[in-house]
Amino acid sequence: MTASNTTSTWRDQKNAKAQARLERALPAIFPPPILHHALTRPLIPPTPRLAVESYWRNHILRADRLARALAARSGTPEGWTWQLGEGGAGGRPASFRIPPAPFREPAFARGRGACCICGQPVYRFGWHRDLWGQGVPNGKAAWHTACVAAWKFWIAPHEQVRVLKRHQGHRCKASGKRLLRTAEVDHAVPLYRVWREHRDAPWPELLGYWGAPNLQVVNRTAHVLKCRDEAAERSQTLRLSRYRVVEDESGFSVIEEE
Ligand SMILES: [Zn+2]
Repeated sequence: MTASNTTSTWRDQKNAKAQARLERALPAIFPPPILHHALTRPLIPPTPRLAVESYWRNHILRADRLARALAARSGTPEGWTWQLGEGGAGGRPASFRIPPAPFREPAFARGRGACCICGQPVYRFGWHRDLWGQGVPNGKAAWHTACVAAWKFWIAPHEQVRVLKRHQGHRCKASGKRLLRTAEVDHAVPLYRVWREHRDAPWPELLGYWGAPNLQVVNRTAHVLKCRDEAAERSQTLRLSRYRVVEDESGFSVIEEE
């Protein structure tokens, strides 16, 4: 028996078990695209919850769109403004590189059953619609599975470089040339400028700066030039600003000048 035969036998057995487990746990109503996705995975997720997670992880641009659409339904909470929290004060991120999330701040949190990212009700399996007609959100849930996938994408978009390259037809957004293997993910409007110039935009709109609408894959040479321009612009900015950006091995932090 060859190694690949051994692998496929092992996988077939594992998948048969996983499928049986999944079908046993499946409620009468379950979103058909999720089930289809689960059953066509190289390794079938063995529970409905894992099937939902796998679906959004593999449809990251859809998760990004959905999370922003749900946030738009919530709107900017009354009295909330985008502020940074030194050392996480007020549940706010210390850096403008993290998307603002009012419902993660204790002062605006909506409690269990509402998503801490978009603010909308959460139903079974972290789903965003009440497919089961239960009438009330899942009191134990604190987030949508789609929103968590989107959040991970927003804070680490480079991990989805392959998806973004495909989305761009493998062309560099800066030069129009074919994307190279070393191409990098970049924010078209850099996040320091979002903080500086768009801070007062409605919150659901702000999220778009972390999502696909503001992401681009560019070839490295183009990216280096853009970064150099931005660094020059930024040093200019920082002299005028009350905030100072400190870069170290742990990433970025922002210090407010006295
Ligand atoms: Zn959500």
